[in-house]
Amino acid sequence: MMSSHTAASSEAPIQRPAHPVRWRSVGSALFDMDGTLLDLHFDNHFWFEHLPKRLAQIHDLDLGSAAARVSDHIEAHRGTLAWYCLDHWGRELELDLVALKCEVQHLIQVHPNVPRVLAAVRRAGKRTVLVTNAHAASLALKLERTQLAGHFDRVVCAHDLGLPKESPQFWGRLKTLEDFEPSATVLVDDNADVLRSARAFGISQLVLARRPDSTQAPSREAEFPGITDFAELLPVTTIDAEARKR
Ligand SMILES: [Mg+2]
Repeated sequence: MMSSHTAASSEAPIQRPAHPVRWRSVGSALFDMDGTLLDLHFDNHFWFEHLPKRLAQIHDLDLGSAAARVSDHIEAHRGTLAWYCLDHWGRELELDLVALKCEVQHLIQVHPNVPRVLAAVRRAGKRTVLVTNAHAASLALKLERTQLAGHFDRVVCAHDLGLPKESPQFWGRLKTLEDFEPSATVLVDDNADVLRSARAFGISQLVLARRPDSTQAPSREAEFPGITDFAELLPVTTIDAEARKR
């Protein structure tokens, strides 16, 4: 049967969705870690299941009140550096958060196609930078577990700059450490608030990682170009590759 799809395409070519990144104008590629490169299932499981369970066991609480204590703290500190700070959490809950994270570290997983894309970005001569709000101890555990560090020219922990990425001032501070031209930079992040703060600073290409947690449905946020799989960032076009075609 002749499909209407075929009939339509003979008149006007089907428009492919625009590539989420104009790679030829990119000098620096900034990548978030949790939910973007790594499956947020680990963090969701840790904060909403493992931590309440272990808090209840260690402090002899019922699970309901342990879960409420964790979620109250999450609500009170969301989007601040304290929220990402394991020392802060450790003090608040009187627990060794790093040890508890290690108990479920088998759930730390890299999203599909991430190493392949990072390798392609570097091969294309772009500067690759990991920029994360994660606490240093969490960052170290995840980089050791995933072996991703070798893909980056630099790894930046927001705690070292004293501001979270959600703050528009963060990007100016980042620039004092890692020089980048905002109009020639792409940022891939699963947090729309972070993309908004980067946009306010002038970072020109912003891509939302729409499926931070592989066990949950993708985000329908339409404010930014989005990807549900890292392979959608390919191919990484360079000026040289284009020139060779001519
Ligand atoms: Mg993230």
